[in-house]
Amino acid sequence: MLAETEILAKAKATHTLAKEEIIALLSLPDARALFQAADEVRRQFVGDEVYLRGLIEFSNYCKNDCMYCGIRRSNTCAKRYRLSPQEIVTLAQKAAGYGYKTVVLQSGEDLWFSADKMADIVRQIKKMGLAVTLSIGEKTREEYALYRKAGADRYLLRIETTDKALYEKLDPQMSWDNRARCLTDLKELGYEVGSGSLVGLPGQTITSLADDLLFFKQLPVDMAGIGPFIPHPHTPLANNTTNGHFELALKMMAVMRLLLPDINIPATTAMETLHPQGRILALQSGANVVMPNVTEGEPRKMYELYPGKICTGDTPQKCRYCIAGKIESIGRTVQMSYGFHGEYLRNKNAASTPKNK
Ligand code: SAH
Repeated sequence: MLAETEILAKAKATHTLAKEEIIALLSLPDARALFQAADEVRRQFVGDEVYLRGLIEFSNYCKNDCMYCGIRRSNTCAKRYRLSPQEIVTLAQKAAGYGYKTVVLQSGEDLWFSADKMADIVRQIKKMGLAVTLSIGEKTREEYALYRKAGADRYLLRIETTDKALYEKLDPQMSWDNRARCLTDLKELGYEVGSGSLVGLPGQTITSLADDLLFFKQLPVDMAGIGPFIPHPHTPLANNTTNGHFELALKMMAVMRLLLPDINIPATTAMETLHPQGRILALQSGANVVMPNVTEGEPRKMYELYPGKICTGDTPQKCRYCIAGKIESIGRTVQMSYGFHGEYLRNKNAASTPKNK
């Protein structure tokens, strides 16, 4: 078994690690060298630019009952809301006005939004010249194909955990195989596919986190978001702690950057909920994307997956400029482009290729 410095050198050179080596990195008591290595690889493969995506949380109705999630159907304390298609399109228009080139439409699995309704929303937003990312859960291949035909560019669906038994315990009536099937279908249909994990779930092991990373590498994903698990008081997992979740999530993200050097990795909102500088630290440990919330008013508060969500009392304009200030304060730049997977290296190579041979 290699020592830490050798594992990091191997990761930087080959972007491939054995499971035991991933476990060793995730277990480091002092991960500063890991974070630094991830920061170097980030700079080399995706540059100093940070892509912003405007997040629209359009419904918190959900047919599922995930034990960790604040909008699970059994949470009768959750006040439910659903934006109309017109309201969603209007928020997208405003997001375009703030300069965003991508909107992410996220919701619980709300059956009110039939495939046709969703496809229609996508079509209307595409007319504005925006890239559209959907994050609306598990659907049939036919539905995914319909959204894609309507113009959807990307899809986010976290696997949450690759430990099948744990997944099926925490997500009752759901099947891990079906979730994995969704990711394969999305890839085959030509989406940029984002996945990711929750870190700190009760019963989750470091070994299974290493499996998550190998799963993302094997797919391979175009994006991956790692979120620390934050217990919600109105769920069966209310009595769990958040001890160590932030650090472990940061390590997961850093190892992911080493293994998949050019993918898009968001600094997640949940990280900032657990640490006041969470997103900045994430951006300095491998991340290159931030997804500011562009939902307005009450719904912004009501989309409560976990407690303590940041900036729920702010306006979308404030968030847009606040995050830009933070990004610039660490010497990085806000890049208002589509931010597709591999964009940075493609642009760099194009710029260095002589035009007239
Ligand atoms: N219905 C969509 C969107 C889910 S919400 C879907 O199934 O993909 C987006 C993400 O929030 C989830 O994938 C999950 O990883 C995260 N999440 C849910 N509950 C959480 C909690 N208590 N703490 C942190 N993140 C949570």
